[in-house]
Amino acid sequence: MVAAAAVAAEAVAAGTELLAYRDAVADCTRCPLAQGRTQVVFGSGDPGADLMFVGEAPGFHEDKQGVPFVGAAGKLLDQLLSEIGLTRADVYVANVLKCRPPGNRDPQPEEIEACESHLWRQIELIEPRVVATLGNFATKLLSGRPTGITRVHGQEQETTLGGRRVLLYPIYHPAAALYTPRMLEVLRSDFARIPELIGRDVAPPEPVPAPLVAAEPAVQLGLF
Ligand code: URA
Repeated sequence: MVAAAAVAAEAVAAGTELLAYRDAVADCTRCPLAQGRTQVVFGSGDPGADLMFVGEAPGFHEDKQGVPFVGAAGKLLDQLLSEIGLTRADVYVANVLKCRPPGNRDPQPEEIEACESHLWRQIELIEPRVVATLGNFATKLLSGRPTGITRVHGQEQETTLGGRRVLLYPIYHPAAALYTPRMLEVLRSDFARIPELIGRDVAPPEPVPAPLVAAEPAVQLGLF
């Protein structure tokens, strides 16, 4: 009972901190995208979610409404979630970039670099068990590897994000699956594995190994 109350209190505190962080980021000017945006699209959903999605960047509708994945790709995301018994209120959704690139062009490396610490902080506060990366940009950033989504989709891997062990789960971006039925089928079958991944135990972080080399003897002062 006491432990459950402590966990609930911790979740409330993390939610409050996430809101405070969102407010702090609302005026972000770390990259030139700040000049063209309507607003920062921070993220939405349950701040204590076990499952977090990371997409690419806000598009036209997201920039106007301030919420990620509200356009056509977002409708597909909602549909796929409902097929595994979840709603947007059960998960947290964010993007690599928090501001809309002009004309929905690809994120540039300098923009990703300027923005990424916002995403790391979100992961740190939300403490998800599974982080599903939608498409190439999120997958490459969070895996730290250049391998593209076509090769790694559906292959979960344990990794440390935001200081905790999580399952990183790369899947296709719903926008890519919108007009390609074969890709949609792959995305749907990758989605079907998500409930099992959320229930999976992830090992705690590896202990930092003790140095192999014996410490240098203390320098004797006064020899020279
Ligand atoms: N595509 C994304 O990657 N993110 C959004 O918020 C909308 C579309």
